[in-house]
Amino acid sequence: MIELTEAITLSKQLNDTINGKIISKIIAAHTKQKLTWYYGNPQNYQRLLHKKKIDYTTSFGGFVEISAQTMKILFRDGVNLRFFENQSKIPEKHQLLLEFIDHSMLVASVQMYGGVGCFIRNELDNTYYTVAKEKPSPLSKEFDKEYFTRLIRGGHVQNLSIKAFLATEQRIPGLGNGVLQDILFNAKLHPKQKITHISEKQTQHLFESIKATLTEMVNKNGRDTERDLFGRPGEYRTKMCKNTVGKRCEICGSTIMKSNYMGGSIYFCPGCQTI
Ligand SMILES: [Zn+2]
Repeated sequence: MIELTEAITLSKQLNDTINGKIISKIIAAHTKQKLTWYYGNPQNYQRLLHKKKIDYTTSFGGFVEISAQTMKILFRDGVNLRFFENQSKIPEKHQLLLEFIDHSMLVASVQMYGGVGCFIRNELDNTYYTVAKEKPSPLSKEFDKEYFTRLIRGGHVQNLSIKAFLATEQRIPGLGNGVLQDILFNAKLHPKQKITHISEKQTQHLFESIKATLTEMVNKNGRDTERDLFGRPGEYRTKMCKNTVGKRCEICGSTIMKSNYMGGSIYFCPGCQTI
């Protein structure tokens, strides 16, 4: 899944790789995939993108957005974005393929669910997109202790669990169920803990953990459970994930647990993260 840290990594790599390239061929919606959302009609992508030059890429929340003259090309959630020097290794299934005049390619294929889009700049009317753009990134200066305290002390979130508070409703864009696990492990908080029971000190730890954990993930080019633009795993070794479940916690030696909660998996250490 593309979350904040992967969006930043992909955006950096795209800026280093495809800026200035001119799109010569577009294949949209090649493979049917039920849980792919297309922004704009994919039948129009060919007309909209033909001969456009890639200017730059930005990221916000869990979105990666490429600017190509008057056009925007957008990716989110479970999109695997890969760059290929030539077509010898491209995957059979894909939802968007852009070939450049030098025959290199950018291929987007959706795993489970994800969004792919192409539209004229400033013309996408989508709340999820707008919110992700407008709210401060948890890595920005605007996302300070005061801002976070306002979020967590809001009356309507007191009955939520920490997982629901942090990873739903785009309260913190780009902070999803993936990066959440290590943020909570580092803060020594259980995902099911109710917000109302979090002390002042724990709030401070949680705030610090959001900043420190995400910064470390970004500095190491994303999590090792995700792949980058070239198909390589990130260098951040994820502590709480499918790779570590059943293993011993590096802090206390307890066995790392997995359970299902709110339509997704949670991973936690029963020794470090008590309710
Ligand atoms: Zn532990």
